[in-house]
Amino acid sequence: MTRHADRTDVIVIGLGVHGSAAAASLARRGRRVIALDRFPSGHDRGSSHGRTRMIRRAYPSPVWNDFVDRAFVAWAALEAESGQRLLHRTAGLYAHRGPSELQGPGCVVIDDPDELARRMPGLAVPEGYRGVYDPDAGVIEAARALGTLRGVAVAHGAELRHGVHVRGWEPTVTGVRVATDEGVLSATNLVIAAGGWTGALVPSLAPWLDVWRILTVTVPTGQRAGMPPGLGAFSVDRPEGLVFGIPDACGNGVKLGVDAGLTWDPEEPAAPPSPREIAELRALLESYVPGLDTTPVEATSCLYTMTEDRRFTIGPLADAPAVVVAAACSGHGFKFGPAVGDAVADLCDGVPRDDLDFVSTARRGL
Ligand SMILES: Cc1cc2nc3c(=O)[nH]c(=O)nc-3n(C[C@H](O)[C@H](O)[C@H](O)COP(=O)(O)OP(=O)(O)OC[C@H]3O[C@@H](n4cnc5c(N)ncnc54)[C@H](O)[C@@H]3O)c2cc1C
Repeated sequence: MTRHADRTDVIVIGLGVHGSAAAASLARRGRRVIALDRFPSGHDRGSSHGRTRMIRRAYPSPVWNDFVDRAFVAWAALEAESGQRLLHRTAGLYAHRGPSELQGPGCVVIDDPDELARRMPGLAVPEGYRGVYDPDAGVIEAARALGTLRGVAVAHGAELRHGVHVRGWEPTVTGVRVATDEGVLSATNLVIAAGGWTGALVPSLAPWLDVWRILTVTVPTGQRAGMPPGLGAFSVDRPEGLVFGIPDACGNGVKLGVDAGLTWDPEEPAAPPSPREIAELRALLESYVPGLDTTPVEATSCLYTMTEDRRFTIGPLADAPAVVVAAACSGHGFKFGPAVGDAVADLCDGVPRDDLDFVSTARRGL
């Protein structure tokens, strides 16, 4: 039987994209890291599984611009470090009925339907809609990115333990003590990157975090209509829920989902999409990306952890400053993965990150 050390510099709870990125950033800086996840590697119980995610600069307020920029820079650095290509630029078009708050460096507001069609011929923008065109938007190879972050963490000495359930934690004079179903660990810092389970580990956060079941379908790869530049990343704002699409930039097929879903208890596995739900998603895909073969190669369910203002909650806890929460959620957190990892490492090192006040724990009075 392997005997593990029970004292380390940093314990990370959760090995989704944010815990994996935090483990990589901390280990790169020479911190001894033990990262724990209650489920086996490759599980589909959280928010980080699946093949692709969207990255974009178009955000509803300039307050995001610096963090988005840090994300692009951090992905490029990870690609250089690992020799893996993780991002594919496809451009993006975000269609909306009324005026949009979306903006960002390089983004262009387009009112003319002909110009919308010219910018992204593969997307059928509904009549009366306008769009925001984002030339830097694209696709992240999510599964590869997750594996790469974990690989970097391990290469720098982090210990990743899957199948270890954290039952609770408490602050101590020298840091924090963490109770797991395999015994007690202690560390100078604790990072809580527990996705939909964050509220269970930090009850003061629970009222801020709703968990939703979100469905996606992915259709066969290699279809002409699905390939860039005909189709980039897109979303279409609708009262029933925003439809988002991630193009086939990397042989992973076009993926489509709706930014709305049932509230879900993360202790229960999210029910897979029913035939009726799959048919509804296919009909949406056919109306916005006509001409595609919409036979699903994958139809999956996933958890969103939603805040009312769609912003994140990142930072130390006021009553336990050795504990850093990394809840980069609300259905758009993946793109920030390595930038969240770096932010968490800064916060564990005591480096102030005032640039993140707009998504901070302090902002939520925590
Ligand atoms: C369908 C879908 C589409 C999305 N599309 C995009 C997109 O296009 N672009 C984008 O930027 N973002 C997107 N997102 C959002 C993004 O994927 C999430 O914000 C991100 O994956 C959250 O990662 P996480 O590490 O915080 O959480 P998770 O991936 O859920 O990881 C949390 C981990 O913590 C573990 N854990 C929890 N409690 C414990 C415990 N007590 N002990 C041990 N381990 C524990 C869990 O097992 C889990 O593995 C999408 C999300 C979904 C679901």
